[in-house]
Amino acid sequence: MNSFFNNTKDAFTLKSNFDLLRARFLFTIIQNKFLVRLGTWVTNFCLKIHLPINSIIKISIYKHFCGGIKETECYPIIKNMFKKNVCTVLDFSTEGYQNEKDFEICCEKKISIIEFIKDKDEIPFAVFKPSSVGKSSVFEKVSKGTILNTDEKEAWLKIRNRFHLICKKAKESDVKILIDAEEFLIQNAIDQLALEMMIEYNKNEIFIYNTVQMYRKDRLTYLKKITTENPGILLGFKLVRGAYMEKERYLSKKHDYPSPICKDKLSTDKNFDSAIEYVFQNLKQINLVCASHNEASTLKVMDLMNKNNLKNNDKKVWFGQLYGMSDNITFNLAMKSYNTFKILPFGPVKNLIPYLLRRAEENTSVIGQSGRELSLIKSEIRRRRLQS
Ligand SMILES: Cc1cc2nc3c(=O)[nH]c(=O)nc-3n(C[C@H](O)[C@H](O)[C@H](O)COP(=O)(O)OP(=O)(O)OC[C@H]3O[C@@H](n4cnc5c(N)ncnc54)[C@H](O)[C@@H]3O)c2cc1C
Repeated sequence: MNSFFNNTKDAFTLKSNFDLLRARFLFTIIQNKFLVRLGTWVTNFCLKIHLPINSIIKISIYKHFCGGIKETECYPIIKNMFKKNVCTVLDFSTEGYQNEKDFEICCEKKISIIEFIKDKDEIPFAVFKPSSVGKSSVFEKVSKGTILNTDEKEAWLKIRNRFHLICKKAKESDVKILIDAEEFLIQNAIDQLALEMMIEYNKNEIFIYNTVQMYRKDRLTYLKKITTENPGILLGFKLVRGAYMEKERYLSKKHDYPSPICKDKLSTDKNFDSAIEYVFQNLKQINLVCASHNEASTLKVMDLMNKNNLKNNDKKVWFGQLYGMSDNITFNLAMKSYNTFKILPFGPVKNLIPYLLRRAEENTSVIGQSGRELSLIKSEIRRRRLQS
């Protein structure tokens, strides 16, 4: 590990001894594939037969990865992080939204969050998941270029309208907005709308950021195409590696099309590096959010900022991590004045269970991720014991 990220004292400055012991317990379990699978099965089973497991989840994994039920409940965490120069992006859980009424509620909720965060320096970005404001089947058809029937045309119009409502509200409130990336089969439609939003709302300043998943083989080409084909347009990109690798591989096999995902981790890493380099070659046109828990990628961005004479706190570049993970990256960057944020999910426990299970699954399947977290947590516990 690079020594820049070794400083566990500042990384865990906001965590009590109890928080650290809980984190050690959680990541020890998460490291065990069998226990994660068993836990996932038991959780789903308990939910199915309506066993009241919410309170157990709330004091354990939920408390580590989420902020609370309501945005106001998250505020103490947000204020404490901001004292350490770490901003927050509030992410209201929207898993399982499936019909027009849900999508409407979700759109209104996103707009109310923007209203809540406007004028709050500690929350400079809002975020939304495209499939929470419209049917995935419509996104998929638009992505494939399939002719839509009358109902679908109406649904697509509503989706576009909701994108505009959220992005317009963000711009008017001086809040930047991150559009999440999703599955390959629906991403083309998301990209179309994201570009439309950037053209409309990134006039003198970049408010709209689209997310680019670099585990996809074709995304560097996308990045270059969108930049060169829209020379006068200011573009915001949030670079990620991608969260749906196993699902994408499964779907491509099931529906018999070539997998869109890079053949191995090294290829994804190379792609991510190339995307970072490309962004820095086009800094006049592009703002970057490096959304990653990868230390090498973070160091690469820091190095390129330095080579391009950008100050650490230049607003063209942001670093983002998920709440409950990689505090050693976030807080050590923040100490050196880099722009950093944590994505802080909030909402009812039941709605956040799929997110939490994904975090557990991701930390098991990503080589070394939970090991990295666990060893940092252990070394901070040891450091505090030696000090007391
Ligand atoms: C702030 C933030 C916002 C995010 N927003 C989104 C989003 O909108 N959409 C989204 O999809 N994800 C999103 N993610 C998740 C992200 O895509 C990654 O899953 C996660 O961050 C792990 O990647 P990494 O760069 O942090 O670290 P690493 O641990 O270095 O990389 C792990 C990642 O590498 C890739 N990988 C692993 N093994 C292989 C393999 N065998 N072959 C090919 N590739 C492999 C996978 O993408 C895996 O997630 C977000 C993450 C953060 C921190």
